[in-house]
Amino acid sequence: MMDIVIAGGGVIGLATAWRAQQRGLSVTVIDPAPASKASHVSAGMLPPGNEQLYDQPELLALYLASRDLYPSFAAELEEFAPSGYRRDGVLDAAFDDDALHTLDHQHAFQKSLGIAVERVSAEECARLQPAFAPALGGLLSPDDGAIDPRVMTAALQTALKKLGGTVVHERVIRVDGHTVLLGDGGVVPFDRLVLAAGCWTHRIEGLPKGAIPEIRPVKGQILRLHSDPPLLNLTARALSGGSSLYLVPRLDGELVVGATYEERGYDETVTAAGTNELLTRAAAVLPGAGDLRFAEISASLRPGSPDDLPVIGPTAVPDVYLASGHFRMGVQLSPVTAEAMAAHLTGTAVPDPAVPFSPLRFGG
Ligand code: FAD
Repeated sequence: MMDIVIAGGGVIGLATAWRAQQRGLSVTVIDPAPASKASHVSAGMLPPGNEQLYDQPELLALYLASRDLYPSFAAELEEFAPSGYRRDGVLDAAFDDDALHTLDHQHAFQKSLGIAVERVSAEECARLQPAFAPALGGLLSPDDGAIDPRVMTAALQTALKKLGGTVVHERVIRVDGHTVLLGDGGVVPFDRLVLAAGCWTHRIEGLPKGAIPEIRPVKGQILRLHSDPPLLNLTARALSGGSSLYLVPRLDGELVVGATYEERGYDETVTAAGTNELLTRAAAVLPGAGDLRFAEISASLRPGSPDDLPVIGPTAVPDVYLASGHFRMGVQLSPVTAEAMAAHLTGTAVPDPAVPFSPLRFGG
């Protein structure tokens, strides 16, 4: 059996590990604290597209492939443990005139892609989400939703281990030939290595300069409130003032409100300003938000590649692969990334939409 080592156990490394182990490879994920970084704080919003896709046809194709895979991906995962997936609709609500125009555009875009969507009136928004402040109108996408990344990554680890895979709680310090050296001095041999350490990926030592593109950190702070029963019925995006705030309710009463977007290097500090921004924006569209129990404010780092697009596939270094750079969409893109990586590792046909995302586009 071919030995695969995956450095990094966020949603990308773990989903890849599960799919690779399913295909008969022997997988070891190495991570000092699996699923503790971006994948831990992420809202897990699975929206019906976003504005980044409008002028990015290759990213759009990748997104659509992953969206198509999600229901079966989650159903298969459910055979091992709850997946945290819900697909009961996303409501985009406009709170000013500009936002209504944005929804016109989004409506046309979704329809052109064949994504189910209907325009809803102000009254319908109030019926669907009674906790909202008065909206001017909205879009309901009944086939989209969200996944709880904490539940999902726990399920991925359970599934991986049940299939015979291993998770080692250590840091990969350096690559040396066909071995990785760990923080505790351990040495783990591999036939193929996948680097999936989010925005820390290029910091793993021992590879030729330029072989791994720099994956920059893009900070996001995110808020978790709690109520019993849940304040919102549906996953939502509230559009106002030229931006959108996502509001992701979990069935247990958690409400995730996100997120800030900050270019501050490797700074994972939770700030008063970030907390204030999220609470203020939430209260503007959800008058009852201030009365909810404050559960958590957290921050982590989105992995951004030099062109802000995912990096998936073999590098110029023999037997070293890369799965990173998923930026704002890592949870959305994990099913297709895992499929593509399992295909690369087993030498089988890679799904077409993943082909343009080769690490070799950066040289190396
Ligand atoms: P990470 O989750 O960051 O995982 C990297 C892992 O590598 C970590 O577990 C870390 O411990 C490990 N590691 C680091 N260095 C080493 C090393 N040397 N050796 C071994 N392991 C190492 N995406 C969506 O699709 N929908 C959303 O709604 C959404 N909301 C978000 C909200 C916020 C606030 C943030 C920050 C991100 C959000 N994202 C969202 C983006 C998404 O979270 C990321 O794209 C995704 O989690 C990236 O996964 P990853 O596995 O590549 O990285």
